[in-house]
Amino acid sequence: MNERDSEIISQSLAQHDYIETLEMDSADLIILNTCSIRAKAEQKVMSLLGHLRKNKKNNPNLKICVAGCVAQQEGVDLINKMPHVNLVLGTQHIYHLPQLLQDGDKDSQVVTSLSQDYAIPRFIPDIGNFTSSEEEAGTFQFSRFVTIMQGCNNYCTYCVVPYTRGREVSRKVSGIVDEVKVLVDSGVQEIILLGQNVNSYGLTNSVTNNGSPCSFAQLLHEVANVDGLKRLRFTTSNPKDLSDELMRCFRDLEPLCPQFHLPVQAGSNAVLKRMNRKYTIEKYFDLVNTLRGYCPEIVLTTDVIVGFPGETEEDFSKTMELLERVRFDGSFSFKYSDRPGTASAKLDGKISEEEKSQRLQLFQQRQNEISLENNKKHIGKEFEVIVESLKDDKYQCRAVTNHIVHVKNEIPCFPGQAIGVTIIHAGQHSLQGEMIT
Ligand code: SAH
Ligand code: SF4
Repeated sequence: MNERDSEIISQSLAQHDYIETLEMDSADLIILNTCSIRAKAEQKVMSLLGHLRKNKKNNPNLKICVAGCVAQQEGVDLINKMPHVNLVLGTQHIYHLPQLLQDGDKDSQVVTSLSQDYAIPRFIPDIGNFTSSEEEAGTFQFSRFVTIMQGCNNYCTYCVVPYTRGREVSRKVSGIVDEVKVLVDSGVQEIILLGQNVNSYGLTNSVTNNGSPCSFAQLLHEVANVDGLKRLRFTTSNPKDLSDELMRCFRDLEPLCPQFHLPVQAGSNAVLKRMNRKYTIEKYFDLVNTLRGYCPEIVLTTDVIVGFPGETEEDFSKTMELLERVRFDGSFSFKYSDRPGTASAKLDGKISEEEKSQRLQLFQQRQNEISLENNKKHIGKEFEVIVESLKDDKYQCRAVTNHIVHVKNEIPCFPGQAIGVTIIHAGQHSLQGEMIT
């Protein structure tokens, strides 16, 4: 979501004649688009802002803007801590940035109001110009994000998102489908639909398609029907409202890639309950079985938090058991981190940093072994992959399963080109392929 917001910021500024530079020292405007999901992400922002004091001294005309979740969370406190910041831009205001920069002669603006009935503005990039320059530079992105909803109403007890992104709001079907069409017509092959919990698409502010309510599964059908779309993915799903109708899409929709990120967070029902996740681990196993029934080759990944307040050794061993039972192809795992204003920050039974690190290491070690074992099963198989970039003498490509596949640069290929490969080697986090001539 944050990456997509950064794209919107840079594209809307380009439309107002700003020119992007990768040299921070030569910039007249520096925007930090920030994440506050864990304390570490927030600390990085504060430390970079500290360094930027020097840039401001060297160039008094420099404007510094902090956008995203840290801006939303901190508001005016950010200016108190870092007076050299000119603009604190909340999550619902990124579309107003060019206007705010134009208006903002006065020092230090804070624009962080969160509206209950925020409507995601229509933003279709000027893709014509982008495509030609990107193609020339060899950096054309064959894959693009499309935001379908914002915010979250779930209030998992550890999570800051409902406070920084506001109430859940879904975008209209027609706006989403139009944006996908523009992207696909300009040569984009893969679309990734984005939301904090896509399974509740259309449920809060009811979304209709031809007069009837539209669920996320129905939206997937609409997007999959766009002529020329090759690959469709989405992220992220809370298992609590994953419907059978949605799981069937993996069987029925040709462009929908056989890959699913389904965050579980913990293997113990007691912990899931304290996290307010609203499902049990047995329900999660049922969902995995159903999914694999509809799409046996589906590649499954997940998110896990270790060391949630009150997590006992026994609770943690259930998370380890979960790994053996589901055998995820990969996972993102994190040490629990207190976030301001969340319910779990006030819970007793905090786990020490040392204990959290040990649990994380045990978890990641076992996950890496399982990922390698799963990846090895692909050796000898033929995949169609899309070339992303050239690194050293190898193409970095993406398979339909979302695996990264490295392929030796034997014949010239361009980013976005589909090539056939045979998998010859498997690592923990990627595969190696040989071109089929
Ligand atoms: N909407 C998604 C999660 C988005 S946040 C979902 O419901 O699954 C991405 C991940 O960050 C979460 O899945 C969780 O594993 C992790 N995370 C969120 N808050 C955290 C915290 N306070 N401490 C550690 N990890 C956290
Ligand atoms: Fe955070 Fe995801 Fe829970 Fe929403 S559903 S509160 S984004 S973890």
